[in-house]
Amino acid sequence: TVAVTIQEVGKSFGNGTPALADISLDVAPSELVALLGPSGSGKTTLLRIVAGLEQPSAGRVLFDGEDALSVPVRQRGIGFVFQNYALFRHMTVAENVAFGLRSRPRAQRPSEAEIRTRVADLLALVQLEAFGGRFPAQLSGGQRQRVALARALAIEPRVLLLDEPFGALDALVRKELRKWLRELHDRTGHTTLFVTHDQEEALELADRVVVMGKGRIEQVGTPDDVYDRPATAAVFGFMGESSRIEVDVKGGVVVAGSTAIAAATAEVPDGPGLLYVRPHDISLGLPGTPGLKGEVRAFRRHGAIRRVEVEVGNALFEADIAPTVRVPIGEKVAVRLDRARLFASG
Ligand code: ADP
Ligand code: MG
Repeated sequence: TVAVTIQEVGKSFGNGTPALADISLDVAPSELVALLGPSGSGKTTLLRIVAGLEQPSAGRVLFDGEDALSVPVRQRGIGFVFQNYALFRHMTVAENVAFGLRSRPRAQRPSEAEIRTRVADLLALVQLEAFGGRFPAQLSGGQRQRVALARALAIEPRVLLLDEPFGALDALVRKELRKWLRELHDRTGHTTLFVTHDQEEALELADRVVVMGKGRIEQVGTPDDVYDRPATAAVFGFMGESSRIEVDVKGGVVVAGSTAIAAATAEVPDGPGLLYVRPHDISLGLPGTPGLKGEVRAFRRHGAIRRVEVEVGNALFEADIAPTVRVPIGEKVAVRLDRARLFASG
């Protein structure tokens, strides 16, 4: 298992804004790093550069300190799984998994007996030991992606690159595979870059999360870092649902319309600002108790909780409360912003 170093990588396709600009990232041996960002932020391009499928316009990629870009793709030792990894339809599961080994030059090719043992081990690893004789069309989507992973692992890759591997699967299967992949990673210890646009997936799966936006890295940190201490408004906004309120900062006070709603953090200057708060970081109390004067505007069931829209001044916040609490529309409430974050706007 190797360390991957990405140094000041840039990529321009020659059409306006570069797809990647000044990307630097150190991935430790056996680390599982998630690249998280909206569509078009450059995640796939970065992965393809590490794989050698794309040449960067600037910068370097090192595996264990050695220049990887000069190593031909086939010798780089990359296991790659794509969102829709088209398995070979006319090959059985076992043949698919064996493909990378069988297509090696004769001198490096294991014997047929060795290949069969290895395929059996890999199918056991991805919990498909009984499926070797099936064809891809006879598998569910989740099973197919497990086969794709077994195929990627067959060549004993130095680095595992996964590009939204669960993106096409339905939500419940995706959640199962997420846990499963983390356990698999903890056993095999491949240095892994995992691309996703799903923040929940990134937070649950990764040792560290790289939040990308528009071809740049917005923040790198542990799941707790990026969720609890987002460096920018973009990271906060991307990390989960939140209310985003346009405010004015005047003499250290955050004002929405004419209502003072919070004390400003020191680093935000007077002027227009953006206040972000997550629905579970707002609590509601009876009128007259500490908090801002608010009024319930709407509510709806939202999974295990009830989500309430409350108006404070002319700002609208969403708050999560227990579904057993009754909150009629028009009800006056005290609104407490337990953990809000203020960013300068513009
Ligand atoms: P993501 O995977 O985060 O959705 P991509 O890496 O696919 O983002 O794309 C980043 C940007 O680069 C996008 O604006 C995309 O249109 C552009 N891009 C990607 N591949 C090519 C290509 N082969 N030619 C031209 N532009 C490309
Ligand atoms: Mg992509």
